[in-house]
Amino acid sequence: MATVENFTAWVHDFARTIAEHSEQLTDLDRAIGDGDHGSNMTRGTARCAQLTDEQTFTGPGDYLKKVGMTLVSTVGGASGPLYGTFFLRMATSLTEVDDVGPEQLGTALEAGVEGILTRGRAERGDATMYDALAPALESYRQAVADGADLAGALAAAAKAAAEGRDATTDMVARKGRASYLGDRSRGHLDPGAASATLLLESAARTLA
Ligand code: ADP
Ligand code: MG
Repeated sequence: MATVENFTAWVHDFARTIAEHSEQLTDLDRAIGDGDHGSNMTRGTARCAQLTDEQTFTGPGDYLKKVGMTLVSTVGGASGPLYGTFFLRMATSLTEVDDVGPEQLGTALEAGVEGILTRGRAERGDATMYDALAPALESYRQAVADGADLAGALAAAAKAAAEGRDATTDMVARKGRASYLGDRSRGHLDPGAASATLLLESAARTLA
């Protein structure tokens, strides 16, 4: 079962990992976008990591709602509202749930990914963060159906995200700034798919 302490650890781990990979994310974005994905995400996640110094949170829903609002207001770029919506939708799904089990986390992750789709209207194969998140969610669901616990399901999700991320290299970007390059976007790994993979890898380290 994941509690508010696990979710706090997730966001803190994500902030640390993003900071470590900031330059790499920026380099990916420089190749096909405007080179701000690392700095955007580092700024926003660092702000999120301060939240627990300022306030006590009663449960995962309460906490993730504040994380989502903070990301929307601090990350900027296309990715800010997308990641913000992901956490806000997860928060709504987990309202009043204190101990989050595999099924509930799956429902919350699905709500989060649906939120990204509603906002960004990406489809599979458009070379976005969705190409990491969609296979992650599928693998998570499959693992739970096969009887996996949180740790097993999250490990499967993180592995699928990394594979989905790597597959964006061969795609032509059809959403966001990278889509302005048309065919020239092929051959480059999508920065948002890279950060989304870091998010799931953090989840696998902290939520179980
Ligand atoms: P910006 O493109 O405004 O500079 P960032 O560089 O922070 O914003 O984020 C770029 C990432 O956002 C892309 O790599 C992609 O994964 C993601 N992205 C952009 N547009 C969309 C969209 N419509 N749907 C899903 N993800 C998107
Ligand atoms: Mg950018």
